[in-house]
Amino acid sequence: MLGLYIHIPFCIKKCYYCDFASYEKSEHLMTSYVDALLKNLDMYANETFDTIFIGGGTPSYLDEGNLEKLLLGINSKIDISRIKEFTIECNPGTLTLDKFKIIKMYGVDRLSIGLQSVNDDTLQVMGRSHNFKDFDENFNYACKLGFRNINVDLIFGMPYEKLDKYKNTLDVISQYDLSHISAYNLILEENTKFYKMHLEGKFAELEEELQLEMYNYTRYFLENVGYSQYEISNFAKGSNECLHNLIYWNFEDYIGIGVGAHSFYKGSRFENTKNINNYIDMFNNNKYKPINYHKNSNIENIEEYIMLGFRKTKGIDLVDFERRFNKDIFVLFKDEIAKHMENGLLYYGNNRLFLTIRGMILMNYVLKDFIFK
Ligand code: SF4
Repeated sequence: MLGLYIHIPFCIKKCYYCDFASYEKSEHLMTSYVDALLKNLDMYANETFDTIFIGGGTPSYLDEGNLEKLLLGINSKIDISRIKEFTIECNPGTLTLDKFKIIKMYGVDRLSIGLQSVNDDTLQVMGRSHNFKDFDENFNYACKLGFRNINVDLIFGMPYEKLDKYKNTLDVISQYDLSHISAYNLILEENTKFYKMHLEGKFAELEEELQLEMYNYTRYFLENVGYSQYEISNFAKGSNECLHNLIYWNFEDYIGIGVGAHSFYKGSRFENTKNINNYIDMFNNNKYKPINYHKNSNIENIEEYIMLGFRKTKGIDLVDFERRFNKDIFVLFKDEIAKHMENGLLYYGNNRLFLTIRGMILMNYVLKDFIFK
């Protein structure tokens, strides 16, 4: 499998918790940025991609002209009929019926909506630019136009948010016909407004115990309303697991185009600059150069494969491990596997090695033993 990630860095405003490559007040760059993206994509015109994921930032914030130019460009450079999943990220309040029609017309078959919470006061605390009503309206447009594969992103562990309020988000959202839900625990990243506010003593981080309770409740609740957990933060109804994200967790190749986008391609990792003006200039002047180019060693490949594989509830496929690395994981990590099986964090079955529920919660503790010394 080969995935294509396309990054759209524009947002109405910067959310207080966000450290992604995303910019507010940069709308004037949309046209030249989309032109640069399409030149970036030309470099991979001979590749056969399996999935496309347009993420951000806020892809749905592109104006209709640029949105159509981007999707038309993708369609002219890639054989869309071979694509198994074509996702676009959207934020409530940035979608019009016309944008939905454009998205539909050019083959996008999966929407990922950044809702985060159904509680307007929590959305305000996060610095989001929308309210719940915007989501409801956009969701109805999407259904009307026939989108059936829809994900919603949620965040728990927000400052001031009590468990009951978060439960309300899950309750309300379970009444919508969603194929997939991602529920992420808030991480206080440096260089965010939240981080600064936290250092200034404006709020304390939620106690670990409460975060854990929220996580466990998420798993319990979503399983009960028909979603299966397949990754730490991801839940799907039926077979609607996100194929594109599985490419990352299965340690397969992907190309990232756009500002700050990462690639893992033919055994090497590389990135694009995070500076949007530099990114556009590089393509205007035919001087594209990726940064932080790194050819993975075999040891790094094994470590990354394990680290990513353990994120999935199905864990690591041992047949695939042996085929890729020509090594037996039980020989490589004999003591470590024995230790964590004994303490109930790892489990072996059906030729797979995977973390137990407790192991998932304590994943970092387990993973540090799977780094070569
Ligand atoms: S909409 Fe998403 S990418 Fe944009 S600032 Fe908010 S969290 Fe970051």
